[in-house]
Parts: sequence; structure tokens; C-alpha cells
Amino acid sequence: MVTLYQEARAALRDPAFHAQKRLGQNFLVEQGVIDAIVRLSDLSPTDEVLEIGPGLGFLTRRLVERARRVWAVEIDPFLVDRLRESPLSAHPAFHLIPGDILKIPLADFLPGHKVKLVANLPYSISTPVLFRLFEYRERFSSLILMLQKEVAERIAAAPGTKSYGTLSVWRAIHGQVLAKFPVSPGAFVPRPKVYSTVLKIGLYEEPLVSAAEMPLLHKVVRAAFGQRRKTMTNALAGLLSNERKKAEPLLQQQGIDPRRRGETLDAEEFIRLSRAIKAVSEESI
Ligand code: SAM
Repeated sequence: MVTLYQEARAALRDPAFHAQKRLGQNFLVEQGVIDAIVRLSDLSPTDEVLEIGPGLGFLTRRLVERARRVWAVEIDPFLVDRLRESPLSAHPAFHLIPGDILKIPLADFLPGHKVKLVANLPYSISTPVLFRLFEYRERFSSLILMLQKEVAERIAAAPGTKSYGTLSVWRAIHGQVLAKFPVSPGAFVPRPKVYSTVLKIGLYEEPLVSAAEMPLLHKVVRAAFGQRRKTMTNALAGLLSNERKKAEPLLQQQGIDPRRRGETLDAEEFIRLSRAIKAVSEESI
């Protein structure tokens, strides 16, 4: 029997194929890791899945066995053709969508109900992809993501820790990390330089703030993490037309010590603060 490792090696030897680092083309060939991702997806025969970057289709083959439908978005025309010519394309659950996950209008083909997202992400675009998925959060029930270890740590981080940042707060607003496990470089062909982590994020039915509140909240969080060692008073001064005087009482009213640094605030505190800033700016208009 041909192993996934041998299959990937053979694909890479094809003179027509040039595996692109830029597209994060490190193919997952360790069956045990693929099985673990499938288990984590917890698929039932009625589930629908969006897979980003099916690549050579190793994970996709397993997903179509269990789900009703798998929408697989692949950017590389060579891999798109290869998938079209593979036995996978005859599977009734498989729907290949050629295109860039950062650009294609997801709403055009995803069903109205929630789907599960599964992706071994190209690491160079994992942050913008994540923000895009949060934008379309009402379309997903859970996100299962293979990420560079450090990015996964940032997503999962708790306040006050080294990895805590904008990505952690944004994740906390949308859902919680339900499971994670490490994956070593040896599980891929070609072998990447970095370690990976698989994360399962369960999305809340509704995010903790409304869509209308997101832009200001994003600004507040960005200001807080803009310069890590800044106190919240200084971080907010910019947002409040440079009026330090306003920042201190506003923080105090929210029960937040003005000398605290942004990296110690949890999502609930950022939300309270953002609502208070909105109220103050509406008063001053
Ligand atoms: N799923 C396969 C696996 O687990 O072996 C391949 C994963 S590989 C890390 C990333 C895949 O995403 C590649 O097939 C790559 O061509 C594709 N890709 C990269 N950027 C993309 C984008 N912007 N939109 C869609 N697919 C992309």
C-alpha cells in the first residue's frame, strides 16, 4: 500500500508542480494526526464542512466519508486540476471551489445554516484568515485549525500572559478554545521549520458584542496593545482626543485601575470600556 508520505513525495517530484512556500504547501502525511483532526471535528452525516486548502486531498478524503458536504477552497490551479482528476472528485460530498479564501464571497456558496470549518492553514495568512472567519462567524459552529504553534498560543492566551494580544481578545469575543494538541514538523512533507498546534474553537451562538460595536472595540483593543508597556490611561488618551483627564475617570468608573496595562484586561473589561467610550463621545457631540 502506498503511504501518504510516498504519495506526497511522488506529487512533489512531478515536474509540473512547484510546491510554493508562499502558499504554505506543507502536506500533512501522518495518518494519526489526520485521524485526530477528524475525531476533533466530531462529524455527523448531516454536517457540512468548509475546508481551506485541501492540497493533495489527504484530509479531505477522510472528511467526505463522514460529512454530508465538504466545500474545499483551493487557490493553486495545479492542485485544483489534480483534485479534479482524482477519485475524490467523483465523491458526491466533495465540492471544489477554486479561489483565494481571503477574497471569495463565502456567502455565495455556503448554506444558510452553520457549517464546521477545518483547515490546515497556510501560516503566512493565518491571522487575516482568522479575522475573516470571525467576520463570517454566523456561518460556522466550530473552527478546527492547524496553526503555527506561536499563533495558536496567541489565539488561546489568557490575560496577563506573554502571548496575550489582539488575536486572543478577538477569539474570546467569539468563542472558546475547546481542545488543542501539538504536531511536530515530521508530520509534514516538505518538513516545515516550525512546530504546529491544532486548535478547536467552539463559536458562541452570538459574539459578546453586536456587529455595530465591533469597529470601536477593535480600535480600543488595538490602542491597548499598540505599545505593550503603556498604561491604559496613555493608551486611551489617543482615542479620547488626547485628553488624559478624561481617560482616568472613565477607567475608574469601569472599575479598571488606570495604571493597568492593556495586556492585563480581559475581553469583558475591553467591552465595558468600549461602551463607556462610546457613551462619552456621544455626550460630547
Ligand atoms: N490540507 C492539506 C494538508 O493538510 O496536507 C494541505 C495543507 S497546506 C498547509 C495549505 C494549502 O492551502 C495548500 O494546498 C495551499 O495551496 C492552500 N492555500 C494557500 N493559500 C490559500 C488561499 N489564500 N486560499 C485557499 N487555499 C490556499
